[in-house]
Amino acid sequence: VHATPPIPFTNDFARELPEAGIAWQPLAAPQPSWLHFNAPLALELGLDAERLGGADGLDWFSGQVLPPGAQPVAQAYAGHQFGGFSPQLGDGRALLLGDALSPSGRRYDLAFKGSGPTPFARRGDGKAAVAPVLRELVMGEALHALGVPSTRVLAAVRTGDWVRRERALPGAVLTRVAASHLRVGSFELFAARQDRGTLSKLLAHALRRHDADLIGQGSEAELALAWLDRVQQRQARLVAQWLGVGFIHGVMNTDNMTISGETIDFGPCAMLEAYEPGAVFSSIDERGRYAYGRQPSIAQWNLARLAESLLPLLGEDSERAIAEATAVIDRFPAQFGAAWHQVFAAKLGLRRLPEDDASLAEDFLALLEAAEADFTLGFHALAELVPRQDGTERVHPLLLDAPAWQTWQQRWHVALLRAGESVEQQRERLLSANPWLIPRNHQVEAVLAAASDASDLAPLARLLAAVREPYSQRADRADLAAPAAREFTARYRTF
Ligand code: AMP
Ligand code: MG
Ligand code: MG
Repeated sequence: VHATPPIPFTNDFARELPEAGIAWQPLAAPQPSWLHFNAPLALELGLDAERLGGADGLDWFSGQVLPPGAQPVAQAYAGHQFGGFSPQLGDGRALLLGDALSPSGRRYDLAFKGSGPTPFARRGDGKAAVAPVLRELVMGEALHALGVPSTRVLAAVRTGDWVRRERALPGAVLTRVAASHLRVGSFELFAARQDRGTLSKLLAHALRRHDADLIGQGSEAELALAWLDRVQQRQARLVAQWLGVGFIHGVMNTDNMTISGETIDFGPCAMLEAYEPGAVFSSIDERGRYAYGRQPSIAQWNLARLAESLLPLLGEDSERAIAEATAVIDRFPAQFGAAWHQVFAAKLGLRRLPEDDASLAEDFLALLEAAEADFTLGFHALAELVPRQDGTERVHPLLLDAPAWQTWQQRWHVALLRAGESVEQQRERLLSANPWLIPRNHQVEAVLAAASDASDLAPLARLLAAVREPYSQRADRADLAAPAAREFTARYRTF
């Protein structure tokens, strides 16, 4: 009946890297029902949204029936978790269904999370609960709409099963779309096993998938170094973008850092409310290793672990290999600095920050911090404060009482006027760099609780629609855009 396969699986990973996974099957959900099907994402991938979002899709995305052409693999990887090395992690409750190629030439992975234990599950049950599945859906959509590369959820299905946590919770399985699931930890695994052959194949696979233009540009050692720099530039840009929207990943272990530059595995993530560089919400991050402002240096630390993993490919002369890899990693601060500069210049309405007033952005952040003002709305308000024709000065609504506000505003106005652009152009830039609505932690929690405890999916639909339009200011969404009460944020913990 259907001539073309519903999902155009290529399964390059399973075919090219049998050493990097174990062929495995998902558990069939006992009584599947839809939580959400992501039709906009399906359309972007050139998939038949009607069929995938209907009865066939429910069979496929609940593990009841394998989608035609899928060749599922539990992927093996290692990783540094909170600084300590685990030589054997892997997909304990995830399962790569396969990689696929969209009609427009976009390569992507489809992978389950919560589809049952694999040989990597150790003591885990292999399952996922409704709330974390929906958190991944909401946050992935929000990041994507904010222009931040992220893995996204194509399908979220209630399994009809119960998951044992501190209490019994309704179970769910998600289907994730990712550019790939190759992580820093994928390379660490084969470096730790001293398996140079598979490491070499893994690099070749990664190059074909993400940096095909580098292929043929030199020896394997040269390619490995050039590729390391590519991964680093993507991560520098990604983390700068996280900081620009106030995203705190929560668990930046090396197994949760992609080489594609997409955000992944952000289970305990949170959004910054009041600006505070030390903000941390994850209950397991007792020492604040992954606090908002530490994310750049942790990214560099993780990239250094990737560099170490590549050493076997960098030639016989190990001292020289270490020096060359170190030279790449040492460029991270400059690369991140440039990316941060670009993000925060735009957030001030500028193409670039003024050379003669280099701390303009940091000083605005310091103003927000001292006033305990909301990060998102603090920047969003700037669009209304660009210099006026009539010369009248207005006061920032959140910085009313900050004595340093007027001085900073004057410096900012000088920078805007010297940029030689129209006020309208600058206002446009401010409005497209500073969202009005982000997924507020308390609103996300309320939506997850309604879906999980009361099976009420209406709040989820409303929040998804809102986070997909973060720059449009709408009176009917004012409740969703408003910051949480301070007491909520002070006590907020993610798991
Ligand atoms: P995560 O923190 O989700 O990135 O997971 C870290 C590691 O623990 C990965 O290898 C996961 O596959 C594994 N894991 C996490 N939760 C479970 C679970 N409920 N069952 C089996 N494995 C799990
Ligand atoms: Mg993970
Ligand atoms: Mg995981």
